[in-house]
Amino acid sequence: FSFGSIAKSAEFFTIGTGGPTGVYFQTGNAICKMLHKYATSSEHGRSKSVTDKQYRCTAPSTGGSNYNIGQIAAGEFQFGVAQSDWQFHAVNGSSKWEGKKFGNLRAVFSVHNEPFQIWARKKAKVKDFKGLKGKTVNIGNPGSGQRGTMEELMKAMGVDNSYFKGVTELTSSEQVKALCDGKIDAFGYSVGFPNGAMEQAATCGAKALPINLTGGPVQGLIDGADYYAAATIPAGTYTGQKKDVTTFGVKATVVTSNAVEADLVYLVVKAVFENFDDFRKQHPAFAPLKKEDMIADGLSAPLHEGAIRYYKEAGLM
Ligand code: GLU
Repeated sequence: FSFGSIAKSAEFFTIGTGGPTGVYFQTGNAICKMLHKYATSSEHGRSKSVTDKQYRCTAPSTGGSNYNIGQIAAGEFQFGVAQSDWQFHAVNGSSKWEGKKFGNLRAVFSVHNEPFQIWARKKAKVKDFKGLKGKTVNIGNPGSGQRGTMEELMKAMGVDNSYFKGVTELTSSEQVKALCDGKIDAFGYSVGFPNGAMEQAATCGAKALPINLTGGPVQGLIDGADYYAAATIPAGTYTGQKKDVTTFGVKATVVTSNAVEADLVYLVVKAVFENFDDFRKQHPAFAPLKKEDMIADGLSAPLHEGAIRYYKEAGLM
C-alpha cells in the first residue's frame, strides 16, 4: 500500500470513539483497520467501481457518545460510536437533546452490549445504589454516555448530586486509578466487557454492584424504553467476581449523518461485514456479535441509505 499512489484523491474521515482505555476506542480503530484492509485487498478493484475516491480513516479518543453525536451534527466527524439511549435522544430531541434534535442522525449498525456498571472500592463498603449515599462518586465527564446514563439512573432513583458527599467528572481513563487510590468511592460506567480497565479495578479489590431490577425503578426504566435492556456480567468475567452481576444496559452503536455520502457509508459497512471474523477478533467484547442483530438491535435512528444498500446487496435485508 503506497501513500504516493493515492495522495491525490485520499479523503480523510473521522470516527469518534471514547476514552483510550475503553471499548469504543478499540471499536473505531477496528473499523478503520477493516477499511484499510479492504482497500488493499483484491476487492480493491470492486471498491473502485463504487467510488473513485480513496478513503483514510482515523479514530481518535474522545469524550464519548454525546460528544461524538455533537461532532457529527457539526460536520466535524463523519461517524461515531454512541450508546443506543443517546442515539435515541439525539434523533428524537429528548433528554439532553431537548431543543437540539438532530433529525439527520443515521444508524449504521450496532456493536457490543454495554451493561451500566457501578464499581465501588472495597473500603467504601457499598452494596448497592442506595449505599452510595454520602460517598464520593464519579459521574463521568460531560459529553460521555456514561455521564448521561448515570444522570438518567439517578433521576429514576429519585436522587441528585446532593445524595453523594461529592461528585467528580473524571474521564473513563482517569476513574479507575482514582478508585484504586481511594480518591473516589465509586463510579458509574456503561462499557462493554470484558475490558482491561475494569479488570484493573477488579485487581485492586473493587467490585461491580448489582443493580436491583425486579419491581424497582430500574425495571421501570427498562420497561419504558427500547434502548434499555436487562444485562448481566457473567460470574468470572473479572478477578474475584464470584456472582453474575445483574444490571440494565444499552448497546454500543455506530452512527453517522445523512450528510455523509452513501458511498463512504457503504464502504465502511462492507469492509466490516466482509471481514467479519477478523473484526470480531479485534476485541473480546465483539465475540458474541451476529450480523442479523447488528442491523436490528439498538437502532432508533433510521439506517443510512449507504448501509441499506450493502445490507440489501448482501441479502441481510
Ligand atoms: N459508553 C461510554 C460513553 O459513551 C464509552 C464506553 C467506551 O469507551 O467503551 O461514554
